[in-house]
Amino acid sequence: TTEIAIVELPKGPLTPDHFMTREADLPAPGAGEVLLRTILISIDAAARAWMQGATYRAPVNAGDAMPCYALSEVVESNAPGLTPGDLVVGETVWAGHAIRPAKGLEKVPAVRPLTHLMSVYGIAGKTAFHGLIHVGRPIAGETVLVSAAAGAVGCYVGQIAKAMGCRVIGVAGGPEKCAYVTEELGFDACVDYRDPGMFKALRKACPDGVDIYFDNVGGPVLEAALFVMNDRGRVVCCGAISQYDTDNATGPRNLPGMVVVKRLRMEGFIVMDFAHEEAAAQRALETWVGTGQIKVIEDVIDGLENAPAALIGLLAGENRGKRMVRVGPD
Ligand code: NDP
Repeated sequence: TTEIAIVELPKGPLTPDHFMTREADLPAPGAGEVLLRTILISIDAAARAWMQGATYRAPVNAGDAMPCYALSEVVESNAPGLTPGDLVVGETVWAGHAIRPAKGLEKVPAVRPLTHLMSVYGIAGKTAFHGLIHVGRPIAGETVLVSAAAGAVGCYVGQIAKAMGCRVIGVAGGPEKCAYVTEELGFDACVDYRDPGMFKALRKACPDGVDIYFDNVGGPVLEAALFVMNDRGRVVCCGAISQYDTDNATGPRNLPGMVVVKRLRMEGFIVMDFAHEEAAAQRALETWVGTGQIKVIEDVIDGLENAPAALIGLLAGENRGKRMVRVGPD
């Protein structure tokens, strides 16, 4: 099979030179293993963080095939419970085919289009739902601020918060993206974090302060958000994209000061923590998609060979909604 591997771990920004394409021989699946054909690869900002050392998963090393989360079809099975033709999601690698342990793969129904299993009904939608509902706990009338607002998770955070009767402010890169967030996604306002006047714009967009900040980026945006939080506000720590693709990350200078003075609650979470709430999340998301309160935003790029550029471009803010690479036909 063709696979894409990491040549060298990046120190500064990720470039195409950090990757190489190679051919790998696949053995027959061993006991408890399956042979998978990759259909859709999820392109995740977190993949860049895995290159910095251990996170919630083991670190990625030079020479490894690039790990990813993907939707695949079972081609050959040597594991109970999975048969050829089954669709599964779970961790695999940037490759046309791969041998994986069946443990850790989740069988999924053939929802059409399959891309929805990567976006609204996949990790992006579930992360938005669980983080906002269980960690943020929004109440109608509250103000919700979300960063990476046009991204895979952010676009659902804002749309769910709107559906729950909150006022929603986004943070995104560039005036065009901000216009997209208000006009297409229906947020009440959006602030451009690249504009030097960001802090003033944020204050203006949030005249009543912020009750929930859903933080996808950390760094200077988190610092600005802490200043506009209301007393007893909640900061949902989902990720820290601003810290992933650099060896020179800057953190908020007002931490923990603002947390103390404003009696804030900052809480991190990992989407898997809420696996027991999966069915409820699925039902709620399906309802909102059905009523049109949630628009499904997807950014699909064709061809395994384009995966490195897709990840590099994601880190630079090219994407709108969930970015994925289509490797093979449905
Ligand atoms: P996105 O689809 O939002 O893509 C990344 C976006 O981040 C880009 O489009 C870009 O948009 C923005 N960005 C890039 N660099 C910066 C920067 N320096 N400062 C601010 N924004 C930046 O990614 P996801 O929705 O997949 O992920 C969002 C966050 O959620 C990530 O932190 C990820 O790690 C996290 N996550 C957490 C999970 C959990 O269980 N806790 C599960 C899944 C994801 P722009 O043009 O606006 O800059």
